[in-house]
Amino acid sequence: MNKACSSTSTIAVFCFDPRRFAIDRYGFKRTERFRAQFLIESVTELKSNLKKLNIPLFVFHDQPENCIPRLVTALGIDRIYVQREWTRDEVKVRNGVCAKIPGHVQLQEYYDQFLFHPEDIPFMDYQQIPNVFTVFRKKCEKNIRIRSPLKYPDPKPVNNWIEDRTKVPDLKELGLEPFETDLRTAFPFKGGESNARTRIDHYFWETHRLSQYKKTRNGLIGQDYSSKLSTWLANGSISARTVFWEVKRYEQTVKKNEDTYWLIFELIWRDFFKYISLKYGNRIFQGKGIQDKMYHGRRNQQHKKDWILGTTCASFINANMRELAQTGWMSNRGRQNVASYWAKTLQQDWRLGAAYFESMLIDYDVHSNWGNWMYVSGVGNDPRNRIFNPERQAEIYDSKGKYQELWLQETLF
Ligand code: FAD
Repeated sequence: MNKACSSTSTIAVFCFDPRRFAIDRYGFKRTERFRAQFLIESVTELKSNLKKLNIPLFVFHDQPENCIPRLVTALGIDRIYVQREWTRDEVKVRNGVCAKIPGHVQLQEYYDQFLFHPEDIPFMDYQQIPNVFTVFRKKCEKNIRIRSPLKYPDPKPVNNWIEDRTKVPDLKELGLEPFETDLRTAFPFKGGESNARTRIDHYFWETHRLSQYKKTRNGLIGQDYSSKLSTWLANGSISARTVFWEVKRYEQTVKKNEDTYWLIFELIWRDFFKYISLKYGNRIFQGKGIQDKMYHGRRNQQHKKDWILGTTCASFINANMRELAQTGWMSNRGRQNVASYWAKTLQQDWRLGAAYFESMLIDYDVHSNWGNWMYVSGVGNDPRNRIFNPERQAEIYDSKGKYQELWLQETLF
């Protein structure tokens, strides 16, 4: 962003790529209404924030391979700045755009989604990334100073040479049904940078929930058992570095304890899965995962239906799956349980579960989702290969049955 703003004239582009809303090989829409709505809100705010900097944000409901080359020609663009991506679909788009723009146009790519910047990590190359999280974490923590967040750029001179008449599409235009927010949701928040900052203000500064984060993070009900920052982090409305430095500021001015550190610890998990996907490339999407291990590849239609609708034999699983279907949100505790139940108890193809999460989650992030799914399914980075017992988990984390009552109190389907 800052680099792009150093040019004399700058425009920004966002594409609602129809492929992101199409049906996948398992029959799910790749982006369901919850994340689509959050994205609409995020892009709408970005457009207005960029306008204040005199940068028009062109929004298209089309493939980048179509609209970027058209803009390049129409406006005589000579440089394109993008976030560097390396996963299958993103690389395909990047290569498709490059093939269609004139040779003199430079594509400048930047890694800006990490906590530990790839140029700072203490490993010779990505192949040296440890497969065990603790080894990765300790080496990085010891050797890296987290970079400061980027500063807001100054406004550009008023842009008279180009008029932006593009509009952010609504759910219907994206082929999705509008919906009412379920009042029980643990995630009632809206997309966009200002909402991310409001959330930090609330969770850190107003309620001091950060000081109890490690103790409450396995909760299931309500807005404040965990930070809920994953959604804004996933679509780039806020950066991991911004969150990190805000935790540091909190530690200096309010309190520093194991709980405040634990939020950073979890952000390192987020980075870890990004580095694992850099190391293993498309193997994170393959059944045998990064361990090249046998996995349960069954695809039983009844199990699929029961799991998705929340009508399995396990009420703790059902409650979590109904929460996801109704809201696009599920706690980390819930995610671990339903994934383990799908892949290990029912012995179904974990990739279908991951694809369903991709469709439904507001905070879907390619690295965290597929990395965590591999981990829970026994083909990823968990050396212990555990299996969760949902009855036991419910006894520990929902001992009074309140969470199950909340989501199973009525027939929703
Ligand atoms: P907090 O507990 O407040 O944690 C703070 C931040 O740390 C999160 O916002 C997130 O960025 C990061 N974080 C926490 N736990 C993890 C973790 N296990 N892995 C990676 N990062 C973590 N997270 C996603 O962001 N997108 C996904 O698509 C996603 N899919 C998942 C699928 C499965 C099967 C499982 C078990 C976990 C998945 N997670 C995913 C990780 C985790 O469940 C969520 O990040 C977390 O629940 C989000 O809530 P929060 O922001 O309140 O987290």
